[in-house]
Amino acid sequence: MVAASHACAILSVDLDAVAANYALLDEKSPGAICAAVVKADAYGLGLAPVARRLAHEGCRHFFVAQLAEAITLRESLESAVPDSAIYVLNGPDQGTEADFENYGAIPILNSLRQIDLWSSHARKRAVAQPAVLHMDTGMSRLGLTSGDVDDLAADPELLCGLDIRLAMSHLASAEQRGNPFNQQQRRLFDNLRAQLPAAPASLANSSGIFLVPAFHYDMVRPGASIFGISPMSDESNPM
Ligand SMILES: *Cc1c(COP(=O)(O)O)cnc(C)c1O
Repeated sequence: MVAASHACAILSVDLDAVAANYALLDEKSPGAICAAVVKADAYGLGLAPVARRLAHEGCRHFFVAQLAEAITLRESLESAVPDSAIYVLNGPDQGTEADFENYGAIPILNSLRQIDLWSSHARKRAVAQPAVLHMDTGMSRLGLTSGDVDDLAADPELLCGLDIRLAMSHLASAEQRGNPFNQQQRRLFDNLRAQLPAAPASLANSSGIFLVPAFHYDMVRPGASIFGISPMSDESNPM
């Protein structure tokens, strides 16, 4: 139950349902780590109570959109699970590098500019810094282009000082099981990853978990389905 004294309405959140949904998603992706996407205040349900409950259920990998959310989340989780990994989807801006490091927030690098920023920080600190490389395979919102990946392959020094924890991409139409674009994105993801240093891979959002297991890779990243939203269009809701 989450209540705010100055609000005109009260939203009751069934954290047992959140826990049951997380357990189902974990069970559906047996070979992969099941992370949790809790951006936008856990899709409006309350970041701290939701994340604490997911941590209690065994979740150790959390994705948020912005650094400020990562700091709130780190403070909420600290005593319970100091070892949890917190990833920031928007990546670093100039001037935020020290906070990323101090709060143990792992930046998702979406452009050559962000790679340069984080790699420069690592070299300045003379300590390897954890990072995720995000490749655009068709969502066309964020991520490295094929041309950017060519540049990285041609000049491995660009990744100097980075400890690449994950190579990821985001599916655009996975709620449609029969959409051929899903396989196209998966093939492009494999081709792009092959040009980069080996790293664990992550492609599936909620809907991707319900496609064939080839979409699961090493980590799945459900968001909406944890909160009960149906992952597949035109099918009954398993959440
Ligand atoms: C929001 C988001 C997710 C979670 O997507 P859902 O469809 O809510 O499961 C996963 N990965 C990225 C990159 C996202 O931005």
